[in-house]
Amino acid sequence: MKPSSATAPVVEIRRATKRFRTPEGQTVHALAGIDLSVNPNEFVTLLGPSGCGKTTLLRTISGFEALDDGSIHIQGRAMNHIPPHSRPVNTVFQNYALFPHLSVGDNVGYGLAVRKVPRREREMRVGEALEMVGMNGMQQRSPGQLSGGQQQRVALARAIVNRPALLLLDEPLSALDRHLRQTMQRELKSLQSELGIAFVFVTHDQEEALTMSDRIVVLNGGHIQQEGSPSEIYNRPVNTFVAEFIGESNRFQGMLEPFDGQFSRLRLEDGDTLTLMSPASGAADALHVMLRPEQFCVHKPTEAAEEYASLCGRLAQKAFVGRDMEITLETASGRPIKAALRGHDSRTLAERNVGDEVTLWYATSAPHVIAA
Ligand code: ATP
Repeated sequence: MKPSSATAPVVEIRRATKRFRTPEGQTVHALAGIDLSVNPNEFVTLLGPSGCGKTTLLRTISGFEALDDGSIHIQGRAMNHIPPHSRPVNTVFQNYALFPHLSVGDNVGYGLAVRKVPRREREMRVGEALEMVGMNGMQQRSPGQLSGGQQQRVALARAIVNRPALLLLDEPLSALDRHLRQTMQRELKSLQSELGIAFVFVTHDQEEALTMSDRIVVLNGGHIQQEGSPSEIYNRPVNTFVAEFIGESNRFQGMLEPFDGQFSRLRLEDGDTLTLMSPASGAADALHVMLRPEQFCVHKPTEAAEEYASLCGRLAQKAFVGRDMEITLETASGRPIKAALRGHDSRTLAERNVGDEVTLWYATSAPHVIAA
């Protein structure tokens, strides 16, 4: 059965491949066979380190870059031979890319004027778009008379004025200071749900990706490493690359041994052990296991339904960073363990000195087994 247009993906990318020849004569596989669909009204973030292929993927969707192989469909239409200006897509760039000699109103209405939309309708739609980004009434200003945040709002208004099916955003907030950036993150997210259109957002900032996205696509070396909701990506990374790239983590590598009923022990190379709920049968014996710093506590919960296990060591570093006390514990074998403690735990640690013995507790259900 053909999916209805309300549920059919806005974008469908199949086996997208893009190679570049560098001036040094090497071939770079910027996209190495990407499969990705974006659903209506979905906020999808492409996240990954510099050079992983984020911008290239965005540029192949907008049409500024042609694929070597594979296909892109937008709203069910094959796009491979459609030029950028004929695609139902707009892009918002990091550097705003406003025309400096045009007023705010003319910048926002530019695309409508090119398409000969009558002046009255144009003015109405420009006003609506500016209203949505909180900039109505500034039609007469020139971009040079605006702050960076205001310029980015105008660039957004320009990108939504012709109601595209899809908005592509290439690191649109990275030129803004931290406070404004956080404000704009919230505004962008609510603008997206108000507009009801799909956003594909590029960032290398994992915190931004976690707060804003419905789905995160983690890229590395032109491949998708993992895609999932922010909590799936954060709590259940499928490989060590994702575990290391997103958030802070403690990684343990060792051999799994049966221990006691439902529990197993991971024997680490240096002799330390980690107790965990036995993984589902069929798991390999040699495993990578991850524990996030915030999964530790100092006071073992007394009424918790879960079993707790502990790691002991010497307090090597501590830093109070506002809500959390961040510490590094050094186990007897010299292994550093990063922990972030709050509330009562944080206050207890405030009274401890570097060099003191400290015990950190964790629920045995907390260690996340990453594929070996
Ligand atoms: P960043 O976060 O630094 O912007 P990115 O993830 O957006 O990185 P891309 O710009 O997509 O990465 O680049 C992917 C790879 O393709 C990189 O190795 C880059 O050097 C290479 N590349 C991109 N454009 C070209 C080009 N025009 N010519 C040659 N190589 C290119």
